[in-house]
Amino acid sequence: MDSPSPVGADAPLPSPPAAGRGRYAVKECFLTLQGEGVQAGSRAVFLRFAGCNLWSGREQDRGTAVCGFCDTDFVGTDGTGGGKFGSAGQLARHVAALWGEGRERRLVVITGGEPMLQLDEELVEQLHEQGFRVAVETNGTLPAVAGIDWICVSPKAGSEVVQRVGDELKLVWPQEGIDPAQLERWAFDHFLVQPMDCDERQAALEAAIRLAMDRPRWRLSLQAHKAAGLR
Ligand code: SF4
Repeated sequence: MDSPSPVGADAPLPSPPAAGRGRYAVKECFLTLQGEGVQAGSRAVFLRFAGCNLWSGREQDRGTAVCGFCDTDFVGTDGTGGGKFGSAGQLARHVAALWGEGRERRLVVITGGEPMLQLDEELVEQLHEQGFRVAVETNGTLPAVAGIDWICVSPKAGSEVVQRVGDELKLVWPQEGIDPAQLERWAFDHFLVQPMDCDERQAALEAAIRLAMDRPRWRLSLQAHKAAGLR
């Protein structure tokens, strides 16, 4: 899943946990503004889990991966605020420390890689205890656990999406093999089309605009964090 970069880069970060065995492998975790989708512009802690079930993350595997257009580094635990966390409580406290003072409108966006490989109900509960609304950005190939406050599914051509209910369906476009008319049967409140960030960027933008013009159910979503220079 694509996402913005840290803001407040000069702010002191909480210490990551000591390296070792951990229940949760986190690539990076940082405070930023949500850059895309319905909640664009909202202050949020981004929690990026390591690992994805549609690509290994290694360039030599890209040609054979189910998902071949990924622009996200989700391998390892060496990113800003990343590490291995031994318990849900420890990880939730790490997220809370990144947010800082105040409990008003706390939002954590859990992404990846594929977050549903690691996210469990206990972590959702611990994040709720820390006062967070829990949003997830998933490829939808694994069912979402209970308790999540905002489910955003971004389907990938060639994969079997089982999570067909949620708040936001974010279609990266164009993708050969996906029929938007079929997706409209799924139970989402918002349908967003986002141009693929690729070499043919202009053509992708035009294709996304065309889709939103042809099918009014869809709204154009642009990656505001990139325009704002957050990444
Ligand atoms: S599903 Fe998302 S994280 Fe996984 S390879 Fe595709 S774009 Fe990247």
